[in-house]
Amino acid sequence: MSVLIAGNWKMFKGPGETSAFCAALLEELGDDERGVDVVVAPPFVSLQAAVAELEGTPVRVYAQNVHWEEEGAFTGEVSRSMLIASGAAGAIVGHSERRQHFCETDETTARRTVAALEGGLGVIACVGETLDEREAGETEAALRRQVEAVAAAVPEPPAGLAIAYEPVWAIGTGRTATPQTAQEAHAFVRGLYPVERILYGGSVKPENAEELLAQPDVDGALVGGASLDVVSFAEICRTAARLSRS
Ligand code: PEP
Repeated sequence: MSVLIAGNWKMFKGPGETSAFCAALLEELGDDERGVDVVVAPPFVSLQAAVAELEGTPVRVYAQNVHWEEEGAFTGEVSRSMLIASGAAGAIVGHSERRQHFCETDETTARRTVAALEGGLGVIACVGETLDEREAGETEAALRRQVEAVAAAVPEPPAGLAIAYEPVWAIGTGRTATPQTAQEAHAFVRGLYPVERILYGGSVKPENAEELLAQPDVDGALVGGASLDVVSFAEICRTAARLSRS
């Protein structure tokens, strides 16, 4: 199983910037990314620009969300067949920013996961505890609740489904889980759900990628801020490739 490094661009980079980034990423990576699956997740409007630039390369393009209905009166949503028509290979679901700002729940995350997988898309389903939950000793309960919602909907996880453990207190804060904290959470998630890959997310950057990716249950990374800069994102991909060769 190869390591997965995914860049979540959030609400950054329109089509022009996306094309330029993807062209630069291919130059940066060269052949170095063997052994690593690389994904970029631009905003919906930039998916086609990314797909056009990355066509014929191993770098895949994911959306940042997907709706469970095929079509209908769901303003602001995008269906799996629309993503497929755009050339996307998968979607992130249940990101904590969706949960926090847009009322995403365990149930909607599970529904989005099922719809995407049934359409043949890959999925990165995000889970993670808030700071309050961690400080109250409720990390495992929060992870159990979120992971079991996905597991109940998809009892036998296919290879295309990855879970991203993203402690909410580490996202965009510059505060990273220690490798040990990440490893403990990943081992706990793996005990709940036999998913092939569990990614760590939360202020991953070139300086800390190696120690996080070296943990036995850390199978990749979901990278936010550091994925917006092509040099730092490529550096994280190269670190993962080096570790997977060693
Ligand atoms: C994310 O958006 O999934 C994320 C982990 O962001 P950052 O790397 O900026 O903390």
